[in-house]
Amino acid sequence: MNAPTLSARGVSSLAIDATASADELEPEQALARALELAGVTEPLPRPQVATTRNRTITRRGVLWLGQTCNLRCYFCYFLDRIESREHPEHPFMSLDKAKEICKTLVDVYGNNAIDIQGGEPTIWYAILDLVRYCHEIGLEPTLITNALVLENLDKCKAYKEAGIRDFLVSVHGLGEVHDRVVQLSGAHVRQMKALANLRKVGIPYRFNCVLSKPVVSQLPQIAELAVKTGALVVNFLAFNPFEDQGNGGRRSSNNVPRYSELRDSLNRALDVLDAAGVEANVRYYPLCMVEERHRKSMYNFQQLSYDHHEWDYASWSWTGQQPQRMKQGPVSPTLPLTGQRLAWKTRRMREGIARLRVVGPAFLRAEKTIGRLGDRMRGRDALYRENARVRSELHCGYVYSSECQRCDLKAICDGFHGDYAAMFGTGEAVAVHCGGKVADPLHFIAAQDKIVENGAP
Ligand code: SF4
Repeated sequence: MNAPTLSARGVSSLAIDATASADELEPEQALARALELAGVTEPLPRPQVATTRNRTITRRGVLWLGQTCNLRCYFCYFLDRIESREHPEHPFMSLDKAKEICKTLVDVYGNNAIDIQGGEPTIWYAILDLVRYCHEIGLEPTLITNALVLENLDKCKAYKEAGIRDFLVSVHGLGEVHDRVVQLSGAHVRQMKALANLRKVGIPYRFNCVLSKPVVSQLPQIAELAVKTGALVVNFLAFNPFEDQGNGGRRSSNNVPRYSELRDSLNRALDVLDAAGVEANVRYYPLCMVEERHRKSMYNFQQLSYDHHEWDYASWSWTGQQPQRMKQGPVSPTLPLTGQRLAWKTRRMREGIARLRVVGPAFLRAEKTIGRLGDRMRGRDALYRENARVRSELHCGYVYSSECQRCDLKAICDGFHGDYAAMFGTGEAVAVHCGGKVADPLHFIAAQDKIVENGAP
């Protein structure tokens, strides 16, 4: 199958494959062109940033405004919701509802930063008001964006004035590769112009790069782009084809790269970033797939809550529920991070008991009290680690191979994502032996220098 032809809007709901088009530049040429578009003609001084090796549980929350977007990235986990106007999560919510969620993140969960995403948050009608509001209540706002709107310099100035902390820009490839992946001609050119604008205005930015099949050969050049344009951080996210990607025959070995296919290019990209002192994070990718020197950058669910640019499991469990992700209806009651694995496994039985008219309310009260006592005895870190297991094993179906059973890192590695394993199996795993079992999730990441913005992670 050939890659779909891009129209002016470029929208296609078809699965795409990784076949390069004839006019695709070599990675080094694509980088040179990207730097030119981003206005970097000579090396820029790297931004001065403070860093920390202090690993504490993140206080960053997340908000989904609605699954409405001006792009159709082929790997999007929410593609059905983006495409269907009838889906309850499709329309953007009101400003009042968004503010209520943000205030709850501060008052109930103690969050001090937030990732705001859409779909695409920059096309939401009240985004500047929400940025201003978050900044005022001590919830420092980041927007996760494709940056198309930021090609307009005045828009960038307005964000600066409103109090944006930074942008997390989705750089999914260079040149033709990016346009093909996001299914819009000209998207890369606009994004590079946006980077130039953000530098002009003085708004920091970081990169997100999903490890889709077409981008595999460009990873070192994306790392170079980050170094040369002054991006503070690069996140590489393994493309584990779940949620809406499981529907309609979208995922295939033509568009999902094997972990081992990524390995060399990813390690070279990490070398580039390391040499330049740029923070790099690799998410949801087995620990055995990178060189030992790069394991400090590896974030599976066990490590994720110690990255202050990632989401607090407690508030994420609440904002991830549908009432907080849709326009219609009120928000649902807040939840403590409690109960965990046993509660998740027995949820159907417990929901049944809770519905009983006579014993239901007493059961709920007793369950809450016992759960909280148990959680207090276990301590906060243990609770977050258990939640990490709920997310990996129960939500995402992660599995281990026979190699994993012999691996010293099994206790701090999630293994293979269930949807990935269903496509490719787990045969790529290679047991790691490092002189003893490792149980501390901070074992490697404690050696990573993470940037600190405005003096506070
Ligand atoms: S547990 Fe399995 S997937 Fe993880 S590093 Fe060890 S062998 Fe690799």
